[in-house]
This record gives sequence, structure tokens and C-alpha cells, in this order.
Amino acid sequence: MRWSDNANPLGYYPVPIISINGSKGPTLFVSGGVHGDEFEGLSAIMRLAQSLKPEDLAGQVILMPAANAPAVSASSRVSPLDGQNLNRAFPGDALGGPTAMIANFIETQILPICDAVVDLHSGGKASFFQPCALVTKVADASLFAKNMQLAQVFGLPLIWQLGQLNDKRSLNSAAERVGIPMIAAELGGGGGVDPTIADQTEQGLYNILRYLGMITGPKPNPKDTRTVELAASADTLYAPADGLFDRAISAGQDIKRGDIAGTFHFPMEPARASLQLEFLASGMILAHTCRGMVSRGDLLALIVRDVDPHK
Ligand SMILES: [Zn+2]
Repeated sequence: MRWSDNANPLGYYPVPIISINGSKGPTLFVSGGVHGDEFEGLSAIMRLAQSLKPEDLAGQVILMPAANAPAVSASSRVSPLDGQNLNRAFPGDALGGPTAMIANFIETQILPICDAVVDLHSGGKASFFQPCALVTKVADASLFAKNMQLAQVFGLPLIWQLGQLNDKRSLNSAAERVGIPMIAAELGGGGGVDPTIADQTEQGLYNILRYLGMITGPKPNPKDTRTVELAASADTLYAPADGLFDRAISAGQDIKRGDIAGTFHFPMEPARASLQLEFLASGMILAHTCRGMVSRGDLLALIVRDVDPHK
């Protein structure tokens, strides 16, 4: 990527792309590192890149393990070059800043030649997500059904269905504009690599390859999977003040309205009474903050509700 700044006036910033070409078949694009502090997917992609042989493949696999490479190099959610979030940069701009250029390259050069897309995320340093596949409920019913099938064969026991809250500047929306089936995944988080989650992710990628007929082996069938959605943005629990969140819940836990999410302390004002934070809605904890000290407005817990995946 050509971007001239003080650190690198006349060189380029590398953005790695791996292409594994087999015999005739579909094209699958897998991205990781859209956010630069989410490493489980990046690990699974690197494992796939080292193990998948062209002679075993029908079709082409295009891998961008570190899609926002400057952000990955800095272990940062956003790019240190321009402060931009790649998943809020689509459709991008070929003549824009570094993050806009990457977004534009993916939307205009990669997605149009693909038959399916998998975009791997996690909670990053800030938060932890119950591992799940993420599906956008796109307006086109047949495309939505294909998205759902990809999520169901990926193999994680939870699917997060994203409706109207999906941001039009995300890679999910880019895939919808181009009209190709896509899933994302949220794979733990905390800023490291969980071995179990990285294994599940690698297995999920192989499940997708078998489902698309790109490698041999038993083809997985889409199976009914617990599906959840953000019912109302008001369900989400945010920090009510600056202070310490003494968390009482974990991701994947089912909770009821009025249950205690944790205790909120004010360590800088030791005489001030701590608060008990209650959930305002019933549902499942999809994600929680990994932070202790938080600021007013920080996300503490993301609550989702079950939906009927057949509707
Ligand atoms: Zn992410």
C-alpha cells in the first residue's frame, strides 16, 4: 500500500495477501485482522495458509490474515496511520487514506471475484465475546438463507443475527452490496489467542471448505443452531460513571431482568458507596468488557435474545 508519511515517505506499507490456487472451483475469501487486536482468527488463517495444499483444493482461497496490517502491527483496533476503523471504512476510496484504500481494494477488487466470504473478529483487547458466527439479515431472502447456511456449517454452537443495527460501512455491508454470501465470527478476545477458540475457528474454516466442495471429506449439513440478536440497543449495559467494574457475569450466561451484573466501585472516592448494577432486560450475555477501570459510556455487557432461526 502506497502511503507517504514521515515514517515511510517513499516506501510502501505491506498488506499481506495469500492466494492458494487449486483446480477449477469456487473462490473463498477469508479475512482476519480487520481490527488489529483480534488474534484468534488471524491464528486460524495462518494455520490454514501453512497447511492447505493447492493439489488438495478445488478453487481458490484468498486470505488476508492482517487486513488492516498497520493496525495488526501495532496490536491496535484502528490503524495508527490514520486512526480509522477498517470495519467502518467501506466502500472506501482508492484515493483516500490508508484504511479507506484497503476497504476500497477489498470491496472492488476481491469481493466481486468471490463466491463466499468469512471475516474473523473477536472482542479485541477491550472485550470478550462468546464465540459465535455472525450473520447479517440482508434484505434479499435467498442471500440471507445462504448466509445462515454458512454460519450453521461453520460449527460454533451460537449464531448472532445482525439486523438493522448493521453498519453500512462494514465488510458485512460490502458483501451485501456485492451480493455474495458472507459470515463474520466473534471469537473470544482479550488481546491474546485462546487455544480452544483458535482450534474451533480453524475447524470452522475447514467445515466451510468442505461445505463449498473445495476440499474432500464429509460435507457438513447446515444444522439448527441457537440464534440470538440484539433486541434493543437499550438492553446493553454501559458504565454509569468512571470507576471499577467488579464483574459478576460471564459470556454465554443466561440472565434475567434485575440480576446483578456486577458491583461498581469508586476507588478514587473510597468513602462513596459502591453500586450494584442490575440488568434491564432478560437474555444471554453475548459479550462483556475485559477492563476493570472503565469510563462512563463504556460497554460493560452486551445482552442478546433468542430468535427463531426459521423466521
Ligand atoms: Zn473486530
